Amino acid sequence: MSRSDFYNRYIRSEEWKQTEHERMRIDSYRCVMCGRPSEKTKHGLQVHHITYKNLGHENVMADLVTLCAPCHIKMHNYLRRIRSYEDERYHPD
Ligand SMILES: [Zn+2]
Ligand SMILES: [Zn+2]
Repeated sequence: MSRSDFYNRYIRSEEWKQTEHERMRIDSYRCVMCGRPSEKTKHGLQVHHITYKNLGHENVMADLVTLCAPCHIKMHNYLRRIRSYEDERYHPD
């Protein structure tokens, strides 16, 4: 199984839903960049992978962060500018 196959399967799993929810709870269900709470976002909150190195067994504190959709896009644009973000080729999350 390739890494992106693993990712695509994992991202739909119950484990990921729980991990995602845990990170959103830590961030009080707000985007860490603009502070917008989930009810004020059009597309809800998203949990961004700061790193994919622990994909499938993420360190919730160190590897993930809660963002709204516009900030998530900005974050990826930023990452693309500062370095060739190695994980972009797997998935933009
Ligand atoms: Zn935001
Ligand atoms: Zn992301």
